Amino acid sequence: MNTDRPKIVLLYQSLLGIYGDHGNAVVLTKRLQWRGIDAELVTVEPGQKVPTDGAVYLLGGGEDTAQITAVQELKADGGLFTALDDGAMLFAVCAGYQICGKSFTIGAHDEVIEGLGLLDAETRRGPQRAVGEVLHIWTQPDGNTCPITGFENHGGWTELGSDAKPLAAVEVGWGNGNRRDEGAVQGRVIGTYPHGPVLARNPQLADHVLDMALGRHLEPLDIPEITALRQRRIDAARTSRP
Ligand code: GLN
Repeated sequence: MNTDRPKIVLLYQSLLGIYGDHGNAVVLTKRLQWRGIDAELVTVEPGQKVPTDGAVYLLGGGEDTAQITAVQELKADGGLFTALDDGAMLFAVCAGYQICGKSFTIGAHDEVIEGLGLLDAETRRGPQRAVGEVLHIWTQPDGNTCPITGFENHGGWTELGSDAKPLAAVEVGWGNGNRRDEGAVQGRVIGTYPHGPVLARNPQLADHVLDMALGRHLEPLDIPEITALRQRRIDAARTSRP
């Protein structure tokens, strides 16, 4: 990995691209460029080789059947696994998060599909679809808490095993489905349910991903418009659900 010219690698938008999560890749690239770091956004589609020298890899939300193809392609390619072994970060949202686990179910007959096995997590169809604005409380590495704003839209509910830790605690919404914990962290893999894109609404989380990828603490970058937008969405979540 080249930390002077970090590559932000957006994976399989044609499969996992229907919720606008490509914005996470744009946000990471821009937040590096705004700090004078010569970051490059690389997009990879199925059939193209996944580069192994990326700093951060991103997966987004999508429909159930596309998840099966994404798993098959990523396993056949192997590049993502090599990159993670070499110290890259993976940030995965919703369908992308679910496929990182050990297994997930698809379709009316709840066929069990083996996932990428990067997270100690299993996803099964929940008793109802989780839809709406969310608010989660993330404890940052320094111990301070930070609200995470976004919206969720998923039928799969995810249960974590002991090797994965929740990313955040649920204040508003369903999170992993139990209304208690949200997302998963294991090593250099972060999975989370919120769209938004979540890294646009939560620059603190974006910078955490970048800090981990580059192995250093980036200087603060406060943008008043983002702070104002973020606050509006936090207020909307608090008033949208009982
Ligand atoms: N298809 C998955 C589900 O419904 C993921 C949906 C999504 O990515 N928003 O659980």
